[in-house]
Order: sequence, then structure tokens, then C-alpha cells
Amino acid sequence: MKIGIVGTGMVGSAAGYAMALLGVGTEIVLVDANPALARAQAQDIAHATPFATTVAVRAGDYADLKNAAVVIIAAGVSQKPGESRLALLERNVEVFRSVIAGVMKAAPEAILLIATNPLDVMTFAAQRISGLPVERVIGSGTILDTARLRSLLGDHLGIAPNSVHAYVLGEHGDSEVPVWSSAMAGSVPIVSFAEQIGRPLDAAARTQIADQVRGAAYTIIEGKGATWYGIGAGLARIVRSITDDERTVLSVSMVTGEIEGVRDVALSLPRVIGREGVVATLMPDLDAGERAALKHSAEVISGFSTKLRF
Ligand code: ADP
Repeated sequence: MKIGIVGTGMVGSAAGYAMALLGVGTEIVLVDANPALARAQAQDIAHATPFATTVAVRAGDYADLKNAAVVIIAAGVSQKPGESRLALLERNVEVFRSVIAGVMKAAPEAILLIATNPLDVMTFAAQRISGLPVERVIGSGTILDTARLRSLLGDHLGIAPNSVHAYVLGEHGDSEVPVWSSAMAGSVPIVSFAEQIGRPLDAAARTQIADQVRGAAYTIIEGKGATWYGIGAGLARIVRSITDDERTVLSVSMVTGEIEGVRDVALSLPRVIGREGVVATLMPDLDAGERAALKHSAEVISGFSTKLRF
């Protein structure tokens, strides 16, 4: 199965590297406005595969995306000094207009997987520009925030992160919402389990964990300028769930008709991912505080999305 990546900077190339080493798809095609960069990244990643898999990795142009099952879009421009968030967003929307036109012409059947920030607004823009059904335009959303939350909760409780069932919902950004009320350790409500073992998840512990999840990207950016390995692996995870029709539940972004009274907003909820994209959404039971926080998060995203006037 062919997977395309448009935008082969740090995030796009990390996704390609993760897929090549994990054996996600059989062929990966890298496209970038800078073809020399796409060629160099493809060669570098291809040189890693003999140690791991037989995935073919090459650079190409849009026509080479023909018959791709999934196209990851990680193309974007970075903020100029003094540039507002909205101005940057508008420039990235212009990038998306040209990228999505190229992808749709070559691979109209592909599922689009969006990785460019601000993630939820760009997912909204991609769906509107492409005109694809909402379930075929997926944003990486809070997949990584959820992974970070599970890992911190696992550390706190002394259990493996994959036995922690908890999600971060809403915006991939400052207004994201960790959900405690329905979080589970194995099959036990996580708050009760934490009490049982004498490591309560009281307000202070929750705030500390939520701050660490929210601040993780900032901490990494301070040290190395940007983040790419974590999200690269997260993207590979989403693609595998599509190509293998796994129907795994992952917290990813998608344009959602209505959430807490906010209409037509792209945001993350636990969603079932399969060959046709998002197959279903699992709306968790939330307490009043979480509902209010999710409404606020939806409003933050919607504030930017509506300024784009699609
Ligand atoms: P990140 O850290 O998010 O990956 P980068 O700046 O490293 O950001 O990568 C963004 C990539 O997107 C760059 O390689 C850039 O050349 C590419 N890009 C920008 N505009 C376009 C476009 N219109 N079409 C294709 N690729 C683009």
C-alpha cells in the first residue's frame, strides 16, 4: 500500500522514518516544494530500511501519489519575527490550497492525515479545501498528548502506560482537556485505583500531570527547537490503523458537527480508525468541569476557524 508524505521537513521525514522502520505500508513517496530536500530525506530513510523492513522509500512529485491510500500533509511555513498567529495561519492555508489541489488531482481516493500546526484549524482548512467527507480528513490531534498523559499516569501509578485508558480531548494546544472522570487503570476507575494504592490523584497531582502534558512540547522546543520523533511515531500509528483496517481507538482530530453547543469545529475525541478513515467517535462521559473545558477548547479553535471564512 502506498503512503504519501507532502512536506518533508522534520515532522514529515520523522513520520517517513517511523513508517519505514515499523513496516507501515509498502511504499512511501516523499513530496516537498524543495525537491532536493525530498530526495535527500528519501535516500537517508531508504538507507535505514535494510536494517529493518522492505518498505520502498522514494521522492516524487504529486503525480507519484497516484493510488496512495493515505497522504500525510506536514507542509507548512514557519512564523516570521513579529508575525501574528492569524497571519501565519493564513499563509499556511495558502500552502494547503496548493498542496491539497496537487494531492486531490493525483489521489482523490486517499485519506488525508494532517500534521501541520495549528493542528485543528489546519484540519478544518484541509477538509473545507478538499471537500472530502469529514471522516476522510484526520488530524493527528491529541494522539501525542494522550500518549504523554498515559505515560505520566503509568509512572504515577506504577503500571504500564498501555494499561492506562485515558484521553486528552479538544485542541492540540493550550486549551486541551485531560479527562479524569472516565479514565481507567485496567478496568478500575483510575481515581479509585490511585486511592487504593495510596497515590491519590488529588487536585495537585492532576494539575501537575496536566501541566506536564501541556508543557511537554515547550520543554522539547527549548532544548532542540522543535519536536518530531514523537509525532512521527504517532502519525505512523494512525496510518497503520488505516492501512490494516484495525479499528483502533485513537484521539485524533476531525471536523465535528456539534460539540457542547459549538458547531463545525475540528477537534480531538476518541475515534475508531479504519480503512475508510474515522469509522465512529466514542464520546466519553464527562463531568461538568470537563464539559465546560471542552466547550472552551472548541470555542478557541472555532474562533480561528471562523476567521478563515470558508
Ligand atoms: P516541521 O518542523 O513542522 O516539519 P519544517 O519547516 O521542517 O516544519 O517542514 C515544513 C516543510 O514543508 C518544508 O520542507 C517545506 O519545504 C515544505 N513546504 C512548504 N510549503 C510547501 C508547499 N507549498 N508544498 C510542499 N511543501 C511545502
